[in-house]
Amino acid sequence: MAGKRPHVLAVPIPAQGHVKPLMSLCRQIAKHGFKVTFVNAHSIHNKMLSASQKRQDEEDDSCHNIVMETIPDGFTPEDDPNNLSMLLENLRRTMPQTLTDLIQRINTSNPYEKVTCFIADIAFSWIFDIADKMGAEPVAFSTPSVANLAFMLHTPKLLEQGILNINGSLQNGVVVSLSNDIPAWRNGEFLWSFSRDPEIEKVFFEFTTKGFKDASKAKWLLCNSCHELEPAATELVPNVLPVGPLNLLDSNSVKSTNFFSEDSSCLRWLDTQPDRSVVYVSFGSSGVFSQQQMDELAFGLELSGRAFLWVVRPDLANGSPIVYPPGFGTGLGKIVEWAPQKKVLSHPSIGCFVSHCGWNSTTEGVTNGVPFLCWPYFADQFHNEKYICEKWGIGLKIDFDEEGIRSRYEIKNKIDMLFFDNKFKENALKLKEMCGKSVADGGTSFNNLKKFIDHLYRR
Ligand code: UDP
Repeated sequence: MAGKRPHVLAVPIPAQGHVKPLMSLCRQIAKHGFKVTFVNAHSIHNKMLSASQKRQDEEDDSCHNIVMETIPDGFTPEDDPNNLSMLLENLRRTMPQTLTDLIQRINTSNPYEKVTCFIADIAFSWIFDIADKMGAEPVAFSTPSVANLAFMLHTPKLLEQGILNINGSLQNGVVVSLSNDIPAWRNGEFLWSFSRDPEIEKVFFEFTTKGFKDASKAKWLLCNSCHELEPAATELVPNVLPVGPLNLLDSNSVKSTNFFSEDSSCLRWLDTQPDRSVVYVSFGSSGVFSQQQMDELAFGLELSGRAFLWVVRPDLANGSPIVYPPGFGTGLGKIVEWAPQKKVLSHPSIGCFVSHCGWNSTTEGVTNGVPFLCWPYFADQFHNEKYICEKWGIGLKIDFDEEGIRSRYEIKNKIDMLFFDNKFKENALKLKEMCGKSVADGGTSFNNLKKFIDHLYRR
């Protein structure tokens, strides 16, 4: 049909670390003139709207081709809209119908812009059937490292061989290695390891394995990494197209996917600090702290004697009010509820990143050449820590004491070690350069994205 325009429908997992990179990918697609409909559950859309001072579609040029749509999230007024596992269960029930209705509405309202491609988080692989039925091409998008993607795709075999049990755990002491060049996995380091409680872990395990079951139905598999960061892992997933790190492709003005309101005052504060002097502390969108751990971190930062920028989300204390320990003063530091993290990490005053090692934070630190102090909580974060410390040599782990706490002295000592040894910064700068080359004209990720975009043109 003459004048037909390719139209991509994008469906993220409803969590901060998934919405952000998928939107970054969509912006690249939209820049090529394709139409994109980005579909969020109602509650997620509302979070983003209230966090944003601007309207969603006023952010940057690419957004003119991006339309935001919402689907019902199935919450009753009594439900907690922050309950992610309930939201995921609700979506599993309702999405086949709500997405079919949405695509039908789009296709009948403008026959020149019918949905031609359907990009969904790979953990929603059960919706690829809908794409097929509606005449759109299913494309999978994976947000964690390629190593963790490879592990997920290998899970059915591990179950079959009895290496993993049906609760998603290994026998005590067992480690799983997929290659000599990829750090091995232990219990508690899997994408479904959200809890130390085996019952809860089992629920997440079932959800994740069901979520990946139909992954092979997607004809394309894109991910937010680059070959140079994880060469051995990309070889394990022959059909994967690494197109990242996607944060490098977004313009700095983009901020519409935040779930929390950004406090940019910290950028002016960073301007007043010497180069490579500030400890940036941030734990992503969902980690929570006990009061004891909060106190140790506060005193550890104070003991380090360095300036720090600490992101303390309003829900960091798991629903309790945020309380700083008696005697703790911000002194050399600044605290914000949510930072413009990309801009912070690219600021020359940043000396190191105390991070929970979520994959987005990992790639954002890496692409800015910032050394890490690793503070993982759950899921793939422990495995990302191994890449940071063991494979790339750009960071140190903050160890637990015998009570399972990261003590103030450990925090102070590791900060000192990171600042005193130049090798972390040197390695980080090399990695930054490699990633930059990968997304630049002719680089591996650049070529992969081009291949996909060229394919969209031909659809
Ligand atoms: N982030 C941010 N400001 C903050 C903290 C985090 O913009 O103060 C962003 C960060 O840049 C990243 C995302 O939130 O893109 C968090 O994703 P990640 O995978 O690191 O962790 P998750 O939140 O999924 O645990």
